[in-house]
Amino acid sequence: MGLLSEGSPLSWEETKSYADHVRKHGVKQFINQYRKLKDRQKDVLYWGDEVEYMLIRFDHEKEVVQLLLKSTELLSSLQKQNLESKANAQILWHPEYAQYMVEGTPGSPFGCLMAHLNLVEANMKLRRESIGKLLKTGERIASITAFPRVGCSNFTYPSYKPNPTPSGCSSSLFFPDEAIHSSHPRFKTLTRNVRLRRKEKVAINIPIFKDKNTMSPFLEDLSIYGDNGESQNAAKPDHIYMDAMGFGMGCCCLQLTFQACNIGEARLLYDHLAPICPIMMALSAATPIYRGYLADTDCRWSVIVQSVDDRTREERGLEPLKHDRFLINKSRYDSIDSYLSEEGRCYNDLQLVYDKEIYEELMAEGIDDLLSQHIAHLFIRDPISLFEEKINQNDSTDTDHFENIQSTNWQSLRFKPPPPGSNIGWRVEFRPMEIQLSDFENAAYVVFIVLVTRAILTFKLNLLIPISKVDENMVTAQQNNAARLGKFYFRKDILTVNSPPEAAECVGCCERIDEKYTLMTINEIINGKEDFPGLVPMVNKYLDYIECDVDTRCTVLQYLKLISKRASGELLTMAQWTRQFVTNHEDYKNDSVVSDKINYDFLMECDKIAYGEHDCPQLFFKYHSRTRDNIPAAVSKAEANLNRKIYAS
Ligand code: ADP
Ligand code: MG
Ligand code: MG
Ligand code: MG
Ligand code: MG
Ligand code: MG
Repeated sequence: MGLLSEGSPLSWEETKSYADHVRKHGVKQFINQYRKLKDRQKDVLYWGDEVEYMLIRFDHEKEVVQLLLKSTELLSSLQKQNLESKANAQILWHPEYAQYMVEGTPGSPFGCLMAHLNLVEANMKLRRESIGKLLKTGERIASITAFPRVGCSNFTYPSYKPNPTPSGCSSSLFFPDEAIHSSHPRFKTLTRNVRLRRKEKVAINIPIFKDKNTMSPFLEDLSIYGDNGESQNAAKPDHIYMDAMGFGMGCCCLQLTFQACNIGEARLLYDHLAPICPIMMALSAATPIYRGYLADTDCRWSVIVQSVDDRTREERGLEPLKHDRFLINKSRYDSIDSYLSEEGRCYNDLQLVYDKEIYEELMAEGIDDLLSQHIAHLFIRDPISLFEEKINQNDSTDTDHFENIQSTNWQSLRFKPPPPGSNIGWRVEFRPMEIQLSDFENAAYVVFIVLVTRAILTFKLNLLIPISKVDENMVTAQQNNAARLGKFYFRKDILTVNSPPEAAECVGCCERIDEKYTLMTINEIINGKEDFPGLVPMVNKYLDYIECDVDTRCTVLQYLKLISKRASGELLTMAQWTRQFVTNHEDYKNDSVVSDKINYDFLMECDKIAYGEHDCPQLFFKYHSRTRDNIPAAVSKAEANLNRKIYAS
């Protein structure tokens, strides 16, 4: 989660009363920035990843593992270290939603040289090491997407009782407010305000994996947790029910941001990466367990979508619109709804909900319809938190009101305008991936996407399919074993560029769009087949084309091998491996329940694999890590010469 202003948060009623003010000035701020920066050219590729970690604590005597609520303390030590030692400036630490989470990014983005691809894995290792030094016996960091027993009794250390009454932030039956990050008021404020705006608790229902001894229908008696009936009403049969933002925002994920040479390139990459989102989500799938139950899905996405859905009943279409302004098809956290480039125009087949007045204002400024619609679409949302100190801003130099709305539209991709007063260019953030156990895997997924963007630009690949089909793929991607079994809509011919329509009105180019795509497996999309080149072969073609140096090629080869073998099914996804671990565990009773003991054994095994003490041939092969020691001298030199001033917060 982006971290904005610090200060005194306003109550929900006050925040709501400023909603129009924030939107009005937010749009003005965007317009002012756009005017200044629309013609900005010749920015180079910079890119950086974000890895979110969970802090966990093993009690080896009791054979129990809990989430460790220690991020405030750790972050202040890490930030102090950063001030004291130059080496630590290689990492930036950020608070995240939960008190058991921290986020680590490189100290400054990686640069445009291919050799920089060698650096990311070593940087990720350094992150683990610098946190590791601050932990006590039994305390560990894990890069796992969801803690299997989140929301079960005593799932945190120290342990707290949830507060289901309206005085709590989440009012959850399962997730105590103490598990929300506390050193910054943003997270608790967001939690409370999502609930107050929605006028009920969030309701998360995920299909349970029905095993032969699973209660059927599966429906829990929630009164034992202190439910007043609201939860029982919201819980669906045969689903795992959850009722707090923490179940979603308390998941970890893997993101990356890269800078485009200008706004046009950023819009193009944003569009062509959209169809890649569900593919990479399925390939990175890592979350088959919630609240101690095996789910019938493999990814976190639907949980997080439901966990911050602040739409009212009117906005969700359950009641006629009376007090609210729009019928809204999606949560604030979800996949994108429209393409931004001219090439994408004809593939925008979702009816976009947007604020007409804001749209007109942007159009009157000479901003084209696609970008105007995009911004006017983001701005259907209310600000969900606001700080008293930030109400009044200078619209020509500040962008806090714009960022307030922008950064609480948590979509699969984010189009990021340059921040004011920086030398940063137009960027795109890729957000759908789940986190992997080891640095090697996380580096592989990140480097693969960086290279896909290079292949898209170099070969002018066209990956577009109707945006509604991307949404269908997002659903498929989350299904049990989608990486191996799922069929995804994908463009048949990615090598022929579409000529974009000449006018804003389509001139017949939208015809025959349905002939342009077909259903493919992930293996076909990633590795290719007779009549489809495949993304890994395209990346290899790119590496040939640029005559990539041998060192980098060796590093990248291993990363591509991992992606390729996960896609072919030769290697398992984290989600499938997790399922196997649980169902093969001697304590598993075929009842979908993941007990404390199973959880403990599972996370012990994860820890050993992540730190290289155990092999896991189902997940990956024997690889050679790029550590600090074996980074070629030329690469280190290139790194040292990076312009350290370039950094976006
Ligand atoms: P957010 O949480 O808003 O996504 P973060 O600051 O956590 O943002 O992460 C941003 C990522 O973008 C980091 O990996 C950082 O290294 C990278 N980054 C920073 N500046 C640039 C830039 N100019 N171009 C590309 N990437 C950048
Ligand atoms: Mg984050
Ligand atoms: Mg971040
Ligand atoms: Mg940030
Ligand atoms: Mg991010
Ligand atoms: Mg949207």
